[in-house]
Amino acid sequence: MESCVQTDIGAAYLERPEAELLPRIAARKAELADRLLVLCHHYQQETTYRFADATGDSLKLARIAAAAHDRRFIVFCGVHFMAESADILTSDDQIVILPDLRAGCPMSDMAGHAQVATAWAELATVINAERMVPVTYVNSSAAIKALVGDKGGSVCTSSNAERVLTWALNQGERVFFFPDEHLGRNSAAALGIPDQEVLLWRRSLPLGGNTTEQLRRAKVLLWDGYCTVHMQFQAAHVAAWRQREPAIKIIVHPECRREVVAAADYYGSTETIIKTVAAAPAGSKWAVGTEINLVHRLKMQHPDKEIHSLSPFQCLCSTMYRIKPAYLLWVLDHLANGRVVNQIRVPASVAAAARLALDRMLSI
Ligand code: SF4
Repeated sequence: MESCVQTDIGAAYLERPEAELLPRIAARKAELADRLLVLCHHYQQETTYRFADATGDSLKLARIAAAAHDRRFIVFCGVHFMAESADILTSDDQIVILPDLRAGCPMSDMAGHAQVATAWAELATVINAERMVPVTYVNSSAAIKALVGDKGGSVCTSSNAERVLTWALNQGERVFFFPDEHLGRNSAAALGIPDQEVLLWRRSLPLGGNTTEQLRRAKVLLWDGYCTVHMQFQAAHVAAWRQREPAIKIIVHPECRREVVAAADYYGSTETIIKTVAAAPAGSKWAVGTEINLVHRLKMQHPDKEIHSLSPFQCLCSTMYRIKPAYLLWVLDHLANGRVVNQIRVPASVAAAARLALDRMLSI
């Protein structure tokens, strides 16, 4: 994450009760009216989510921002890489704001630009790196998207990872996939790529912990990043639910481990999970393997269905829903007073290369 020093917003915000903050946010939104667009990722908490003009997953929100030419200020209630994608896709006169700069993504941070560039150079000593195509999950920094764009690769999302992987394998001999091992592994498995042709690149080890021979045979190399939330789900949770509720349906996100996805009835992106549960018949029972705020919202929206979290324990991601009402109000107060705080600005050269990688995905 490039920018993470968050100004102390002080007791005037942090020590005020929500009962006071929420009406003040509503009033500022009304005041800023058509100049403002508030975007909220599905994982945000309800007290922030209620102020969204649009909700969605990261790419859907970036596209909404790009299409909202008339909105000068885009306040992005999500994490840093999402705000970066919005800045890359919006025009120069639009301003993207992340209300709390500490809202990073641990998975995205697991693939730093220097680390990836070093790994690429190391690989080039044992294989023909010219024939290797990089693919990065949208959950990555603008710098990684730019590196991928420069090397002829593409961004992917959890909805289109299999399609992008197929495209990339048609462009070269092998793919280097960043930063989420599990999305890469699940996508490779769905395409029928044998396990022995899918290798993990461990950041701390020479040649990623692989032999030269293994690397030469590999079709897909996986960076060893992961989502702290989706890693908590285990195949044992799936088995326990099936034993307790034989009729239950299990749906999980492809950032979950391979064995969890293989044991589930369905898997897919956040949007797919929402649509699948919404379309299910009344009375159906679901165990959902994804972030807990989304599971709670599904429960509230579908009282006719029985919806549970797949895991009885919650390992929360401390950054994913960091945008608290106090921070949202703080940035709106500044905007109403003619000042911009917490703008996310991707340097032009990085944005241009990152956009190449995003545009490739859109054309695949
Ligand atoms: S839950 Fe946390 S680690 Fe997982 S994608 Fe979101 S910010 Fe990244």
